[in-house]
Amino acid sequence: MIFEYKLSAGKTDFYNITAQVREAISKSGVTDGIAMVFCPHTTAGITINENADPDVVYDLLLGLEKAFPDRPDFRHGEGNSSAHLKASALGSSASIIIEKGKPVLGTWQGIYFCEFDPPRNRTFFVKVM
Ligand code: ZN
Repeated sequence: MIFEYKLSAGKTDFYNITAQVREAISKSGVTDGIAMVFCPHTTAGITINENADPDVVYDLLLGLEKAFPDRPDFRHGEGNSSAHLKASALGSSASIIIEKGKPVLGTWQGIYFCEFDPPRNRTFFVKVM
């Protein structure tokens, strides 16, 4: 069963989508399986990281900017190669174990849609199996 969600990403940020993933799992009725979260975009990604201290997301964004800055020698005409790099570094999907109808996540973990080329209207999918 596949669920589609829309997201309005106004700025470069990590958008917490844990609630949508929990909702998709709940609606699917699957109690023992896998949920795959997939982002069909080339300048956005999916990751699992800390959701307790917002400074962690701030630091992740800072580190990604430092690791993948815009460069004058990039050739891609759209001018967003830095966003493509960040998206590839994080990847376009995450898989989450489902046990007893709930996602198996660590206490401090959240699932994030990572926007690197805002503003964009985005889509992501949750496949529950
Ligand atoms: Zn591009």
